[in-house]
Amino acid sequence: MRADLHIHTTASDGRLSPPEVYRQAAAAGLACIAITDHDTLAGVRALRPVAADGSGGPAVIAGIELSADVPGKEVHILGFCLDPDSDELNCKLARLMGDRLGRAEKMVSRLNKLGYSLEYDRVLEIAGKNATLGRPHVAAALVEKGYFPDAAAVFAAVLGKDKPGYVPHYKFSPSEAVRLIKSAGGIPVLAHPGLVGDDRLADDIIGTGVMGLEVYHPAHDWPQTEKYLALAARRGLLVTGGSDFHGIRGRYPEKLGDFSVPAALARRLLAAAGHESPVF
Ligand code: AMP
Ligand code: FE
Ligand code: FE
Ligand code: ZN
Repeated sequence: MRADLHIHTTASDGRLSPPEVYRQAAAAGLACIAITDHDTLAGVRALRPVAADGSGGPAVIAGIELSADVPGKEVHILGFCLDPDSDELNCKLARLMGDRLGRAEKMVSRLNKLGYSLEYDRVLEIAGKNATLGRPHVAAALVEKGYFPDAAAVFAAVLGKDKPGYVPHYKFSPSEAVRLIKSAGGIPVLAHPGLVGDDRLADDIIGTGVMGLEVYHPAHDWPQTEKYLALAARRGLLVTGGSDFHGIRGRYPEKLGDFSVPAALARRLLAAAGHESPVF
């Protein structure tokens, strides 16, 4: 019995819609999946009717991946077993979405000044109506126009953190992200600590009330995996893992099922959240 506890859909920057993710996860034989879109629960809500119809597909855990504000670092905090209808969390997420709209418009205008002909409306179209609007959608618009061969090339040239087209977006502090996840009944987990790239910082963030560590991630090599497994044991943290699936070529496993973890990890998460089975 295998699980994948880190999956993106078209609700943020993944390529597959939530029902398509569900279908492919079922075909791959996964027993449990967690949908963890960036800064939104829209994908989880879209999956509710699909997962509830008893089709025998995987159990679904309602999740999210929040970006936390740490200067100069990319820190992500996963939330699992959340109430997708939580008023407080959804209200805060709506504010983030508003900020992302203005931010994308600023990035487009910077790119225009840099000589790239690009329309903000086209970026909105590419993102679609429910998506967490972000750099991947701006990148797709630039690739579509033929300026770059792929998104990675766009990030390397203009949209990376230290590049001229980049504009930051509003983020919660790590402790606010942890608090919000708990307020929605969820379990906060520090995502891919290997990508944080600073174990002292990871330690500090764990100290804000994080309850789990994403030990298994395609960006972690074996020594890192062992190190974070030991850290989780030392700090009494739940262990999670997943593929960080985006359905995009060259970014982590391209096929659901290629990177999975024992379903027992999902069961421990659910037990810690006080859920007997995945709930919506
Ligand atoms: P944003 O939240 O708008 O700043 O965009 C961040 C997202 O961009 C991440 O979640 C990744 O999915 C994507 N991303 C970051 N770096 C790269 C890269 N080098 N190539 C392609 N996509 C990237
Ligand atoms: Fe992403
Ligand atoms: Fe992440
Ligand atoms: Zn992710």
